[in-house]
Amino acid sequence: MKADVPLGLHTTLGIGGKADLFYEARDSLELVKAVRLSKSLGIPVTIIGGGSNILVGDKGVRGLVVKNVGGVIKIGKDKEPIGALPEEVGARWQADSTVGSFKYDFADLDYDEWDEKRVEVVVDSGVPLSVLMMSMADAGVTGLQWYSRIPGTVGGAIFNNIHGGTHTIGEVVEGVKLIDRNGEIREISSEALGMGYDVSRFHNSGEIILEVKFNLFRGDVDKSRWVIGEWAKRKSIQPGRSAGCVFKNIADADKERLGLPTGSVGYLVEHVLKLSGFRVGDAAVSDAHKNFIVNVGSATASDFVGVRNEIVMRAKEKCGIDLESEIILMGEF
Ligand SMILES: Cc1cc2nc3c(=O)[nH]c(=O)nc-3n(C[C@H](O)[C@H](O)[C@H](O)COP(=O)(O)OP(=O)(O)OC[C@H]3O[C@@H](n4cnc5c(N)ncnc54)[C@H](O)[C@@H]3O)c2cc1C
Repeated sequence: MKADVPLGLHTTLGIGGKADLFYEARDSLELVKAVRLSKSLGIPVTIIGGGSNILVGDKGVRGLVVKNVGGVIKIGKDKEPIGALPEEVGARWQADSTVGSFKYDFADLDYDEWDEKRVEVVVDSGVPLSVLMMSMADAGVTGLQWYSRIPGTVGGAIFNNIHGGTHTIGEVVEGVKLIDRNGEIREISSEALGMGYDVSRFHNSGEIILEVKFNLFRGDVDKSRWVIGEWAKRKSIQPGRSAGCVFKNIADADKERLGLPTGSVGYLVEHVLKLSGFRVGDAAVSDAHKNFIVNVGSATASDFVGVRNEIVMRAKEKCGIDLESEIILMGEF
């Protein structure tokens, strides 16, 4: 365990004040030990994974920050196909991204594998999603190919129910093992996860994800590998020194009311709010994708918030839209 660790070193944005205490857990057992110790000492505990969806405040995070960075993958038994598409969780992210200056689309890569046999895979939450995806391809297992080039861990992916094309990761989750506010370990099934558009029960529950049980496919591995490669190529234009998309796509009703050709906030920022290139300190609207705010040097959280607030304010004033954040704010600002 270390004291006064700058969290900017542990986020993709490279922004953030210090953690009072910092510990790297290499599997779910170490994660449990760290969480129980901090609870017994009355120290607040915060979990981060790859730090790819967070903005950490300039004044840092009080108490203990546990970076969850590894673990094991266990492939279980094969099962019969379930053969039915899950209910749609919400499809706002499917908005056409081929409109405007930022163009990419995954529609041609999409296919259905719900008729394939299933396979149970249990993974520690600290395993990087990319490691899981490639290990599954090597083991002849598919179903995660839509999440190619998404940085971060399995825990972070469940926390926000990540999306790729028309898919959300909740589609293939069977259950989660967690540690609750009292330090008790419990297992819950997918129905209890409260997964929606960029949301899960973990946003409000104070619970920590230890292990995830997936229900993946014995699908076409060559096809899946091709999708992984192609998807990564298309996503490579997204700026890495960011925390991903800053805002959720615009609701359909607002899109129609404003006569917008797409629900993409990047389009709104560029063509309606005219904020291309807008910058505060070293934080700027990305040239590559205008729903990304990037750190172009030594940006502070306050710089980032300055850019973000300008977009929020102009969207409200000019379009009457309340933009919703896709990024998690952490610590003191
Ligand atoms: C270039 C780029 C591209 C991206 N593309 C996509 C994309 O296509 N689709 C998409 O949905 N997202 C995307 N993202 C956003 C981000 O990568 C994902 O949300 C990712 O899953 C976050 O995982 P993480 O481990 O980095 O979480 P972190 O950023 O470390 O944490 C995010 C939140 O999850 C919580 N958390 C993390 N682990 C646990 C745990 N074990 N238990 C409880 N809570 C936990 C944290 O406390 C925090 O509140 C992108 C980001 C970048 C930088």
